[in-house]
Amino acid sequence: VPVIGVLALQGDVREHLAAARALGATALTVRRPQELAGVDGVVLPGGESTTIGKLAARSGVLEPLRAAIAGGLPAYGSCAGMILLADRLLGAPPDQVTVGGLDVTVRRNAFGRQVDSFESEVALEGLPGGPVHAVFIRAPWVEQAGPGVQVLGRVVGGEADGRIVAVRQGNLVATSFHPELTGDRRVHALFVDIVRRHLDQKAGVSAGYERGT
Ligand code: GLN
Repeated sequence: VPVIGVLALQGDVREHLAAARALGATALTVRRPQELAGVDGVVLPGGESTTIGKLAARSGVLEPLRAAIAGGLPAYGSCAGMILLADRLLGAPPDQVTVGGLDVTVRRNAFGRQVDSFESEVALEGLPGGPVHAVFIRAPWVEQAGPGVQVLGRVVGGEADGRIVAVRQGNLVATSFHPELTGDRRVHALFVDIVRRHLDQKAGVSAGYERGT
């Protein structure tokens, strides 16, 4: 059973724990470096990215988290979590602390203040069962994605038509919206599947070492 850690410094932690558990994973909160060491994948929740970044630096979990993600630990970020995973930010204070790892430029609060929150159907590449009902709350979007980044979903219609709101790069997944708030578990299922494959791959590699291959 994969162990999913949810970074639990601020934000909608409980909803992500519930989603992971509904999918049969073990879900634990992560606040300290020791807690990170025991997880097979990590979720960065929605919330306030500047606050989460500051608290992560203060608790000492930021550097281990950066190192783990750079080393291949699967991670999923929703909304503020997407901001934290981004390598480059727009509309952010210059001293904003991030985790990084995802080769994207993310614009914070991209949809503008007049449309703080809205809901929309978003079709996600490779996700069976039709579009997801996406909840956006003071959401970011991906303004530019590097060559290794797969665009999973875009806004359709309205002023933000075509804007990228879901991406994947290897073991990293990020969405501008909050699937944890809707009861639709398909995005989390995609992530848990990535975590399972990563675990299998690691087990295969260590079995290979034991056999001397
Ligand atoms: N606007 C928030 C930020 O910049 C993100 C909002 C959210 O996670 N719903 O951190």
